[in-house]
Amino acid sequence: MSETPMRARAVVDLAALRANVRALRARAPRAQLMAVVKADAYGHGAVPCARAARQAGAQWLGTATPQEALALRAAGDRGRLMCWLWTPGGPWREAVEADIDISVSGLWALQELTGAVRAAGRPARVQLKIDTGLGRNGCQPADWEKLVAGAVDAEREGLIRVTGIWSHFACADEPGHPSIQAQLAVFKDAVAYAEAQGLTPEVRHIANSPATLTLPETHFDLVRTGVAIYGISPSPEVGAPDDFGLRPVMTLSASLASVKRVPGGHGVSYGHLYTTPGETTLALVPVGYADGIPRAASGTGPVLVGGKWRTVAGRVAMDQFVVDLGGDSAHVGDEAVLFGPGDRGEPTAEDWARATGTIAYEVVTRISARVPRVYVGEYDSDMCDQGNSEHDNEVDDTGDA
Ligand SMILES: *Cc1c(COP(=O)(O)O)cnc(C)c1O
Repeated sequence: MSETPMRARAVVDLAALRANVRALRARAPRAQLMAVVKADAYGHGAVPCARAARQAGAQWLGTATPQEALALRAAGDRGRLMCWLWTPGGPWREAVEADIDISVSGLWALQELTGAVRAAGRPARVQLKIDTGLGRNGCQPADWEKLVAGAVDAEREGLIRVTGIWSHFACADEPGHPSIQAQLAVFKDAVAYAEAQGLTPEVRHIANSPATLTLPETHFDLVRTGVAIYGISPSPEVGAPDDFGLRPVMTLSASLASVKRVPGGHGVSYGHLYTTPGETTLALVPVGYADGIPRAASGTGPVLVGGKWRTVAGRVAMDQFVVDLGGDSAHVGDEAVLFGPGDRGEPTAEDWARATGTIAYEVVTRISARVPRVYVGEYDSDMCDQGNSEHDNEVDDTGDA
């Protein structure tokens, strides 16, 4: 993409995303797949990624907030769609009218929702969430009987339909962690109890990307894959993307804004944390923490310039950082690749995570709106041989202005 005349760009390879979705479906052949596209599809762009995931057969989309889910409906998506991060005030009615599956973790939510349903005049699709040990959202096992009883009553009254029972893992990215089997046992009990009370969920689900990749016994009826559809491994312990046939979807690069010779002993960037060891060439990479480059990459972040890995010299500033090219030359406008799939020798998002003490999820998700997303692979040959069997799941192009 070096011909793209932009300061910086995040190239998003939708053909890779589709291939990743297919690879994940093949790993969970008896389950449906939910493509998790929260947080603007982990920074990749929610609407184009949702559409690509649907094209590759994702039966479900998942978001955190109802606003994210409603935005997908506004863009024309008509397939199954769930969101799980609710606060008092909803918007319940809008979600019911938009046919969104609503996660409910407590009686307060069920009460607000059923009140809104009376106004909407149609039943809500509800998925009950049990906290099997993550300790975040979800109903505590001790409160499960009450929540299930409330849901059974609301279903009898025709106000809701319980479409799912679900939970979320705490440590699935650490294969063999004892909490995994413990959470699974609590989950099975919670499902059995709810079914014994008369609930008939269509989908029971607990698997995120790491569980989808490493724990077939957690797949149940549906797997919720986020980071893996973007070609990123959940953790080094789980493996490399390649081990699972996954390919990173985002490539972040920038055009050098300055290349100049400086003498030895020259301080570089705020605080002069770096001083040139001798006469050298400094190149200015025009992205900074306002673009989502972690300031923690100061002195550590890897960048490919002129075929070689360089390291961020000194501080990452709001809009820019510097690399020392040593004895090598370069030209303004040359491409600096921060991360990508790695085939051109560039670092990966995992390399950035290691260099900055975070996880690759954060590296891609934090890339800000100031960096334009450039979509490639939107339409190519692999879409012709799918038979479009999931016609209901297609995203309608017309709404996506
Ligand atoms: C983000 C999220 C996922 C996806 O997790 P990955 O590890 O990215 O696959 C699944 N379920 C819930 C509830 C989430 O919040």
